[in-house]
Amino acid sequence: MAMYLVDHSKNMVHRTAFIKTECDHQEISKESVEHLNDAKSVELLLSNKQYDYCQHCSQNNI
Ligand SMILES: [Zn+2]
Repeated sequence: MAMYLVDHSKNMVHRTAFIKTECDHQEISKESVEHLNDAKSVELLLSNKQYDYCQHCSQNNI
């Protein structure tokens, strides 16, 4: 399993290890979902493309 699940429709990054029902990750369409394993790509999304960590599974909420 990849470490990160990116929802490109909502500009949201989930952390798969901590994902919950509230994340609604099953609602994400196949065209919008991307699985990433490297933190660098995630950092780029967060800093350059205004993506955010999902509030339900982000580090700050665990
Ligand atoms: Zn989430």
